[in-house]
Amino acid sequence: KKIIIAIDGFSSTGKSTIAKKLADNLGYIYVDTGAMYRSVALYALQNDCIVNEEVDEEKLISELDSIKIYFKYNPQLGFAEVFLNDENVESEIRTLEVSKYVSPVATISEVRKKLVEQQQEMGKDKGIVMDGRDIGTVVFPDAELKIFMTASAETRAERRYKELRDRGDSITFDEVLDNVVTRDRIDTSREDSPLVKAKDAIEFDNSKMTIDQQLNAIKELVKE
Ligand code: C5P
Repeated sequence: KKIIIAIDGFSSTGKSTIAKKLADNLGYIYVDTGAMYRSVALYALQNDCIVNEEVDEEKLISELDSIKIYFKYNPQLGFAEVFLNDENVESEIRTLEVSKYVSPVATISEVRKKLVEQQQEMGKDKGIVMDGRDIGTVVFPDAELKIFMTASAETRAERRYKELRDRGDSITFDEVLDNVVTRDRIDTSREDSPLVKAKDAIEFDNSKMTIDQQLNAIKELVKE
């Protein structure tokens, strides 16, 4: 019987790495909801909805109907890439520039409502692993399995820093750490769907476990 697996937690806890492998293993669909919020932030940057480093919420809300986001499976990569208005933006949404605006954009209730509805639609046939901040609390409160990932801010920033440097972005560790800490603060303190551990979620501390240890532990839970 296919189930819904919700994986929530702070930025750069390695949620997507685990979620992808798990989905692959179970033959499930993997959905990166952060990529959807990042795509809206990218749209805002490309369409003058950011003025003097501030999000023009009214303008962005008025244009929400012209933002089309979907995923398309790439067999070479083994996961689905995100498209914004028919353009593949999988790589563009990972820049520090987008990371800077994504959390403010994600505080906007109209943005959340639109994306949550789309996420619920994607999960209606089950057999899905979805990662984000509000999956176990808001998107799928009845998910059969909920995981909550944590790790120290330094561990997470170190990981993200390496990723960004590997793809050639010129950034410093301190910039990345600052972004991770700022996003945590906005994500946990926003009014609409703040990042909290669902009561029935199982917590994993990512800095203390290897990827394989986590994966095996979660697979055991799926069997139950
Ligand atoms: O997962 P990722 O770090 O790519 O998410 C980027 C940002 O999108 C988060 O910091 C958060 O502000 C927002 N987000 C959200 N709800 C989700 C997924 C992501 O608010 N379900």
